[in-house]
Amino acid sequence: MSAPLPIARTVADLRAAIAAERKAGAAIGLAPTMGALHEGHLSLVRAAKQRCGFVVATLFVNPKQFAPHEDFDRYPRDEAGDAKLLAGAGCDLLYAPERAAMYPEGFSTSVLVSSVSTMLEGQMRPHFFGGVATVVTKLLVQALADAAFFGEKDYQQLLVIKQLTRDLDIPVEIVGCPTVREHDGLAMSSRNFYLSQDERRIAARLNYVLHDAIKALRAGAPVDAVELEASRHLTAAGFTSVDYVAIRDAASLQPIANLNQPARILAAAWLGKTRLIDNMAV
Ligand code: AMP
Repeated sequence: MSAPLPIARTVADLRAAIAAERKAGAAIGLAPTMGALHEGHLSLVRAAKQRCGFVVATLFVNPKQFAPHEDFDRYPRDEAGDAKLLAGAGCDLLYAPERAAMYPEGFSTSVLVSSVSTMLEGQMRPHFFGGVATVVTKLLVQALADAAFFGEKDYQQLLVIKQLTRDLDIPVEIVGCPTVREHDGLAMSSRNFYLSQDERRIAARLNYVLHDAIKALRAGAPVDAVELEASRHLTAAGFTSVDYVAIRDAASLQPIANLNQPARILAAAWLGKTRLIDNMAV
């Protein structure tokens, strides 16, 4: 059994713990999460542990990235369970600040990344990347780790974080980690916990539809026709509605007309009240 994981609740405690490890010569790795952890999150911790002597995971359900009608209140929370999983994956410290420690009375700054955050998720959830960019900037500056690990599962978010880190000269390397999937291909997500049995079965189709779309693209089908067809397949599979299926430039997420550059297919679709996203390299 692993020892209980130490938990820091304040920036001062986080910085003191990191300073001590740094002094002892350890490189510091950071893996930010909103908890309700699964293998996808733990893969970030393991990747961090391979490269860094001291790994900090963060747990903060960030109110700023949820719109009032979204699932902030029902977002799954289990700090004790999460701490156990993290300890087992080699995490050295959990940083789980209170809301008031992250956003004290009078907090009035936000970080807005333009360009890559304006389309797709940014269009469907206009508040989302502002909230993500603000909290991630805070976490990066609070920890000043050598490297911070984020999942490709949230591909657009990863690009937004790379952009803000570059733009604000935050001295940390951003490392993208591959999406971890269930046996049937469904990308692991804390929101999968919401799915009924029927929805869970349909959810697995998302990944298959993206695979089929990639095959069609490689066989020469036009980008816009493939997007449309994939969206139709999702609806036919039982998805309640489709926010987008988009084939984009892998670096800028700008629309593309052909596959002359590295491309990414990204999708977001609803099953009842649950919104799922996925993406793959084309
Ligand atoms: P979340 O707790 O959903 O905000 O996610 C925290 C971090 O875990 C983000 O960097 C996500 O991209 C990453 N993550 C979530 N699910 C997965 C997954 N299935 N595979 C890899 N990384 C993931």
